[in-house]
Amino acid sequence: MSLVVVGSIAFDSVRTPFGERERMLGGSAVHFALAASFFSDVRVVGPVGDDFGEAEYAVLHARAIDTSDVEHVPGGQTFHWRGRYEYDLNTAHTEDTQLGVFGGFEPKLSDESRAAGMLFLANIQPELQRAVRAQCDRARLVGLDSMNLWIETARDSLLQAIAEVDLVFMNDAEVRMVTEQPNLVRAARQLLGVGPRAVVAKQGEYGAALFTGDRFFSLPAYPLETVVDPTGAGDSFAGGFMGYMASRPEGAPDDEDELRRAMTYGSVLASFNVEGFGTERMERLEREDIARRYEEFRSITALAEVPSA
Ligand code: AMP
Repeated sequence: MSLVVVGSIAFDSVRTPFGERERMLGGSAVHFALAASFFSDVRVVGPVGDDFGEAEYAVLHARAIDTSDVEHVPGGQTFHWRGRYEYDLNTAHTEDTQLGVFGGFEPKLSDESRAAGMLFLANIQPELQRAVRAQCDRARLVGLDSMNLWIETARDSLLQAIAEVDLVFMNDAEVRMVTEQPNLVRAARQLLGVGPRAVVAKQGEYGAALFTGDRFFSLPAYPLETVVDPTGAGDSFAGGFMGYMASRPEGAPDDEDELRRAMTYGSVLASFNVEGFGTERMERLEREDIARRYEEFRSITALAEVPSA
């Protein structure tokens, strides 16, 4: 099933305790698409400027990502984000944001993108997320991400957008913030009450939790000894999750087992993403690496039986 992502395409300048890089390829749509491309066809919708060239397209095309809906705005500059991380890699500190062509972004979807079976609304203005959602009226599974900026400035619109999607991917702090509920379990349940079928609360190096109906599932993060750059971890998580869901045959159920597999693929892809700066690690990733780490996840999360008395 085809999967479309709408979000930022960026150059990121990042400093972590392990080094720094200037103007790497990044953006939420890029990180999502690279992760999802290991599972299904992916189309990217987002704006770029004159500074976005062949080298950047080549990274996407090497993974067979369809860029025909990437909008080149002549005379414009691509979105640029500058951030740094302290030893606590869970918190990104934004130092500068140059919106460039992203500032006037009005998503224009081709007929192919409108017909997509699955859609991911990466972190963009909630009214734009709603407009895209309305255009993709045939999508049977729609996911959404957001950030504190929109909770602070457009909370009502964001709640409307959440009401119109199936899956919500947010940091645990954002789930608490948007619901104004300090307890994560209550907050996630409250968000489910708004409309989505599942809420995934991402918890950085502590993993991720899945809330559906009255059920709960939690996975730790893969125990990495070398985390280099956490930028894009959340988007890679969503890409692995939704990519897996899109890879299944038409009519496959979206039951609890499938969502748990998707959680595991999300965790696997996020764990690879943070092993290198920007898209470095994802560019070298192989399907076998993913399969191997999935199995490792199975073994690190297996509970021992209680011995019979
Ligand atoms: P995350 O998965 O949350 O680490 O997302 C990181 C990506 O989000 C980076 O590659 C940035 O380019 C992008 N980003 C940062 N700020 C914004 C923003 N205000 N709007 C859209 N994308 C952003």
